[in-house]
Amino acid sequence: MSGSDEGKILVVVAHPDDESIGAGGTIRRHADEGIVVDIHCMTGNEERNEELKAACGILGAHNLYLSERDDFAIGEELINEVVGAILKSRPTIVITHHEDDYNRNHQQCALIVKQAVEWASHKTVFDDAHRVERIYNMEINTMISHPHVLVDISASYDAALAALKKHKSQVKKADSFYTQLYDARTRLRGVQAKCKRAEAFAITLPEHAGPFYEKNSVDRLI
Ligand SMILES: [Zn+2]
Repeated sequence: MSGSDEGKILVVVAHPDDESIGAGGTIRRHADEGIVVDIHCMTGNEERNEELKAACGILGAHNLYLSERDDFAIGEELINEVVGAILKSRPTIVITHHEDDYNRNHQQCALIVKQAVEWASHKTVFDDAHRVERIYNMEINTMISHPHVLVDISASYDAALAALKKHKSQVKKADSFYTQLYDARTRLRGVQAKCKRAEAFAITLPEHAGPFYEKNSVDRLI
């Protein structure tokens, strides 16, 4: 078994480096515990994909779904691509951007993932339909005002920072802004979580309101 007993994670991001800045410590922590983590990136080019591969090697990611699409070419037409990644990876949960992120591509990515999660679970559309249980929305530059969970990444922070530094073109372009931000933000979240360092997430529950799903009811609430 490839970790399926314990669940599986698919991370869907707009750009190479978002996976490290938003959820690097969380990805590495789960990978260390034997959870399979796949990463789907919507944009990229030769240089940035090489950086992403190096970063994901450190984070312990399993499958990478790369793209050569331009940085800003993110639109609704990518829903089917994300549905494809979901049906291939069959994750228990998906980690992606937050709809309130200041970056328009990140907002679009969050909306696309939300729709793709719903669509991928339609058994009337896909014979191999797959239902994702929860979406975890991460933070990049914009702090989430009401996080639902704080993941303790004290033990995986060093690896996550090393992964972030593999995105040399971005770290250099922004004059180390991202490494400083990641350092400060994970320390602040650590204070809130009563641990050394943490990453914050908001949870989006998939909407299931029709007769299109394998199982659309629960037996009890607890
Ligand atoms: Zn980005």
